Amino acid sequence: MLDLKVDIDSNSGFCFGVVYAIEMAEDILNEQGYLYCLGDIVHNDEEVRRLEAKGLKIIDHEALQQIRNEKVLIRAHGEPPSTYRIAVENNLELVDASCPVVLKLQNRIKNSFDKKEKIYIYGKHGHAEVEGLLGQTNQEAVVFQDIAELDLASLPRQITLYSQTTKSTDKFYEINAILREHGIEVNTNDTICRQVSNRDKELRAFASRYHKILFVSGTKSSNGKVLYGVCKATNPNTYFISKKEDIDPAWFQQGDTIGICGATSTPWWLMEEVKEALLQL
Ligand code: SF4
Repeated sequence: MLDLKVDIDSNSGFCFGVVYAIEMAEDILNEQGYLYCLGDIVHNDEEVRRLEAKGLKIIDHEALQQIRNEKVLIRAHGEPPSTYRIAVENNLELVDASCPVVLKLQNRIKNSFDKKEKIYIYGKHGHAEVEGLLGQTNQEAVVFQDIAELDLASLPRQITLYSQTTKSTDKFYEINAILREHGIEVNTNDTICRQVSNRDKELRAFASRYHKILFVSGTKSSNGKVLYGVCKATNPNTYFISKKEDIDPAWFQQGDTIGICGATSTPWWLMEEVKEALLQL
């Protein structure tokens, strides 16, 4: 036995947006035994599998066009206006679990669009939340995930900058500074969710207290990538895993202290499973 000392970060686990969506889904699953959900309810394969076993049916936008007279859950990432139009046409009852933070951001972007501002969104191409934001602008906003994608010389001299809710705060402000250095007048809207940006600081403190860190997250989670980067920068002995089977015993030495933490989409039960597995080594 390696006699590892293992703690789970009390600030990790689902954010309130994900808790709300999963509670809504489970209530309906308990009542009607199945429920359609547009896209993965959460970017965590283990949690998706648990809910699928209870009757959750994940569908994509193409499948949405084919079904009629059903309930469909909108997950925390939100959706563009086109999804709500399809629902009306197909007599679908949308169970809207869009996170209030995302809905507020959608509204702000819609207002900017109505005022004819030049909208730039720092976000991941094709990400569900970003598609929902882009939909508020009739697909006219510019989405970029790296400043190198923008030709700074040809940008309008006045722009309105937003961020996907789960991007890195440090990178967002770096981008903001570069744009200003190039003489662009930026109306800056830091729309990064505090559930993510506050974890940033807490995680730095947590990661520095242990010999090794296991960061538990689905590979599709945007904030998982950001928060893993925060841990790795603080503690180079940080390992990314998605499930207990990914643990390599060779990472540890006798008596190591191990901190377990995760993304806003990482279920608590999964981190508990990882802890149990470590205590068996
Ligand atoms: S990270 Fe923030 S914006 Fe995203 S679902 Fe959670 S609470 Fe909502």
